[in-house]
Amino acid sequence: MNNLSTKEIVEKYNFRFSKNLGQNFLIDNSVLQDILEGTDINKNDFVIEIGPGVGTLTKELLKRAKKVCAIELDSDLIAILKEELKHYPNFELIHKDVLKTNFNEIIKDESSIKIVANLPYYITTPIISKILNNKYNFKTLTIMIQKEVGERMISEPNCKRYGALSLLVQYYCDVEVLRKVSPYAFIPSPKVESIVIKLTKLNNPRVKIKSEDLFFRIIRCSFNMRRKTLWNALKALKLSREYIEKAFDKSRIDPKRRGETLSIEEFGLLSDCIYELIHGL
Ligand code: SAM
Repeated sequence: MNNLSTKEIVEKYNFRFSKNLGQNFLIDNSVLQDILEGTDINKNDFVIEIGPGVGTLTKELLKRAKKVCAIELDSDLIAILKEELKHYPNFELIHKDVLKTNFNEIIKDESSIKIVANLPYYITTPIISKILNNKYNFKTLTIMIQKEVGERMISEPNCKRYGALSLLVQYYCDVEVLRKVSPYAFIPSPKVESIVIKLTKLNNPRVKIKSEDLFFRIIRCSFNMRRKTLWNALKALKLSREYIEKAFDKSRIDPKRRGETLSIEEFGLLSDCIYELIHGL
């Protein structure tokens, strides 16, 4: 692997970076190696790469995987990728906004799906939410993201960054930090530090609940205004006062607590108690 390959390709095509598309390309070979080691790709794996840039990581993935399907929005990069990766028969390029892409149409009947991305930071949370909420069948999701967003994903109750994103990610996945990355690992250097996170999809969600819709609505209400007690926050659900009172009683969760103190199991319990009351169970 050549340390300068990203820079060389950028110069060769006189590529102009777009800030709006979150284009910070990786130039640090040790980070590339750690991502590859962490993803642990083999010839059975069908890899989806989001935002391949000039294809430096893509090329390494192509050498290891059965197939790599990359989704890129920037037309200038499409031309570069087609040229630079033309010798790889296992490469497929989709010129599309990842947020408008139905992954099931890409995955088809493949079974060992690994998603890899140095994500455009301006849409990190929407991309992760989309992948998890759509319940795409993937094994691992290895992503480079802004450090602060990564910290939200791994946060536990009572931590400053614990919130709806922590619960969404931990409901579906085990979360592991692979490494931190300095801004100097990219051209151009972003203003923020980065982190590489690996999400491994659980066979079953972490807690068994009666309604995912209600569970995530309760979570959203609880964190919309972090300083509010649960009692006040859950008024936004617009349910009868009686149901809410009974649900707190039944679950033995103190309504004066704040959402940030509840574990995922406690959110599950509260949600099930409310569900049972609504449905007369
Ligand atoms: N993978 C390359 C690397 O590591 O050097 C580039 C990573 S760069 C942080 C993010 C990439 O995502 C860019 O190639 C950018 O053009 C692409 N991108 C930005 N918004 C996108 C979107 N909505 N859909 C697909 N790709 C997008």
